[in-house]
Amino acid sequence: MKSYKILFVVAALISASFAFAADAAKDAAPKKANCCVKAEKDGKACDHKCCVAAAKEHKNCETCKGTNAPAAAKH
Ligand SMILES: [Zn+2]
Ligand SMILES: [Zn+2]
Repeated sequence: MKSYKILFVVAALISASFAFAADAAKDAAPKKANCCVKAEKDGKACDHKCCVAAAKEHKNCETCKGTNAPAAAKH
């Protein structure tokens, strides 16, 4: 029973570090909002007001879950 417990802890630790790595990658790379990606696939620009405003500042819309590089976020 003891070794079973240890296995469980190890598995939890591994999954936690994977989640952390995924979060770090998310932070590193700016990501476009899903609606904007969809519009781009159709060869259009996203017509959400918030996305248009963000695009004017050469940013991804954060209102629609897009992300920007930390350096460009505030200036
Ligand atoms: Zn959009
Ligand atoms: Zn938006």
